[in-house]
Amino acid sequence: MKQVLFMFEDISKALSATNTKFQMVINCADEWLVNTHEEGVQGYMLYHDTRITDRRVLFEHKVTCHETSKVNGYQFFHKSNDKEETVYCPKSFDMWAGKTLAEIQGSSFQSLRGKPLQYVKKYAAASTVFHETSHSYNVLNDWQTFDYSIVWNGRQEAVYGALLAREFARVFDVKSERAPIKNADTLTVFALGVYFGQCNWANPQDPGKCSGDSPDPICPRGEDGERHCVSFFD
Ligand SMILES: [Zn+2]
Repeated sequence: MKQVLFMFEDISKALSATNTKFQMVINCADEWLVNTHEEGVQGYMLYHDTRITDRRVLFEHKVTCHETSKVNGYQFFHKSNDKEETVYCPKSFDMWAGKTLAEIQGSSFQSLRGKPLQYVKKYAAASTVFHETSHSYNVLNDWQTFDYSIVWNGRQEAVYGALLAREFARVFDVKSERAPIKNADTLTVFALGVYFGQCNWANPQDPGKCSGDSPDPICPRGEDGERHCVSFFD
C-alpha cells in the first residue's frame, strides 16, 4: 500500500500547476499520425509523423483517435524526439464538456451514493489524465504502468474499468511482473475511489486523510456558453 501512496504522490506532483519539470508533450488530436498500412513488429502498424518532414522516419504505433472511437487518450514514447507524448482524443473533450457528470451529480457527493465507480469513471476527465500520466516513465520510473490484459468470458480483454480491475486482482499470478499495481486502470479506479470517497492518499502531511479535503469543483460550459462550477462539497 505504501507503494501506491508513493505513486499517487509522484503523479500528483507531476500534474501540479507549479511543477515545471514534467516534460510531456500534450496533444488534443492526432491527425498528424498517418498510418502507412505497413506492418511493423508484434502486429503494430507503421506510422509516419507528419510533424517530421522526412517521410522515411516511421515508427510502430498501436492506436489513434482518428482511426478508432474506443480510446479516450493514450500515451507513448516518441523515439524520434526522445519525448513522452500524450494524446487526449477530441471525443473525450465532448464527453467532459458539461451536461454529463455535473448534471448527474447535482451539487454534492450525496448523489453519488450507491453508484458504481465505473459510472464516475466514464465522465471524469481526471481518470483519463491520471491513467495516461501513470504510463509515464519520467514520472514513475520502474513503476510506470501498462495496460495488461486477461482472459474474460473466453476473450482476451484489456484490463480497463472497475470490473476487469477486480477480476485481474483475483486472477493475477503473484510471481509475475504483470501485477495489478502496475496496471494503469487498476490504479486509476482506486484513485477515483479514494478521491470521490473524499480521502486524500497523496497528501504527504496526512496520507489517507478522509472527509477533510475538498475535491476540486468542475466547471463545465453550459448551453449559455458560460462556465458554471459545480462543487462536490456542500
Ligand atoms: Zn493505458
